[in-house]
Amino acid sequence: MKIGLEVHVALPTRSKLFCSCRTDAEEPNTAICPICTGMPGSKPVLNEGALTLAVSIANALKCKVPAATSFVRKVYFYPDLPKNFQITQKDDPVGIGGEISIEQGKKVGIRRVQLEEDPAKIIRQDDYTLIDFNRSGIPLVEIVTEPDISAEDELRSFMTELKSILYYIGIDIDKELKVDLNISVKDARVEVKNVTGMKNLLDAARYELQRQEKLVKAKQEIVQETRSYSEKDMHTVSSREKESDEEYGFIFEPDLTVYRTKGIKTAEPVYASRLAREYAKKYGVGESTIRELIMFNKESLEMIESYKGKHDMKPILNAISLLQRYATAKPTAATFEKTVGLLEKGFYPDKEAILGIESGKKVEAHAAAGTGEIDKEIKHLIKENSKLLKEYEKNPKVFNFIIGAVIKKYKSNPREVSERLERILEGFKR
Ligand SMILES: [Zn+2]
Repeated sequence: MKIGLEVHVALPTRSKLFCSCRTDAEEPNTAICPICTGMPGSKPVLNEGALTLAVSIANALKCKVPAATSFVRKVYFYPDLPKNFQITQKDDPVGIGGEISIEQGKKVGIRRVQLEEDPAKIIRQDDYTLIDFNRSGIPLVEIVTEPDISAEDELRSFMTELKSILYYIGIDIDKELKVDLNISVKDARVEVKNVTGMKNLLDAARYELQRQEKLVKAKQEIVQETRSYSEKDMHTVSSREKESDEEYGFIFEPDLTVYRTKGIKTAEPVYASRLAREYAKKYGVGESTIRELIMFNKESLEMIESYKGKHDMKPILNAISLLQRYATAKPTAATFEKTVGLLEKGFYPDKEAILGIESGKKVEAHAAAGTGEIDKEIKHLIKENSKLLKEYEKNPKVFNFIIGAVIKKYKSNPREVSERLERILEGFKR
């Protein structure tokens, strides 16, 4: 089983790829000009910010970035393309031959990373069609993988990894994601075109894999074809349009020049999942906890990085796990800092305290009172059952009833109570 992807993501530039029209207009056809509507005589001018972003992506995906890059016209006739060609890249893309490491311990090859313009948006009504040119000319990056993905969970990991890498470049994959999937269970290659959004992508892949497996089992032929995915019915259907690169006309884009990529400086890429693995090993905490917090949260990652070395990591990581458990939204830097602050002072904030921190209340007193009450009760119970203290050395479980009693009385978290108990027992031993 082989899956290859062509992932299209929109770049977050303020203006379009070849003109100065804005990219965030909502009212249809309000951000358009002669260039992005393909008027005769208009000339494209490359948005260098888009080129820099494309190079950042190529670098982060460990591609080789050729010293120069150029554009071609991909000629086809369709209402979303008034000039009858799309400006894209062919022989000199921004990046070639990269890879992404995924959770399953394998590497998925990146064949190429290229820059291109989005066509206009077609809105079909019952008996007429509307076209919105606001989208025409929005910069896209197309990421083409090798057919290295061989299971649904690998596809999920790949997309999560890609999403995280792009997140750290400032690109939100969920905002505009369009994927062409190439899936072959046996020899015939089936292409599922224009799947939008992460959920649809996984659903479409699952459906198509099952469909092809069923055909193999029934010893029926799998037709090499292009299919489309229906979100409503959650299945793929054969679509007549069969286009391959050979069927398009490609010519060099004479209105643009060759662009040097050599001098383009890009920021160091961030591989959050690799960092999560390193932190987990170094500080002895669960990898998934750290992953969840930093894969898509720059502030948390910066926080950990800034605390690293200066502080004991224990409160930092405790704060991560507390916020994971109780926070209602993605923790902000301020929430994280306050939680760490309380832990460093020896307070152990409970759920209520975390909610208080989130809403910006002063919570120190509450958190202190909360743990103070618990401590008092634990000490009281230990004194009442003083002979247990002697047995404790032989059998630490003798105190489980104390944990149970405290949980029952204060409805507090078992982990929190056992941590308090351990701390108090330490004190008794000394
Ligand atoms: Zn324009």
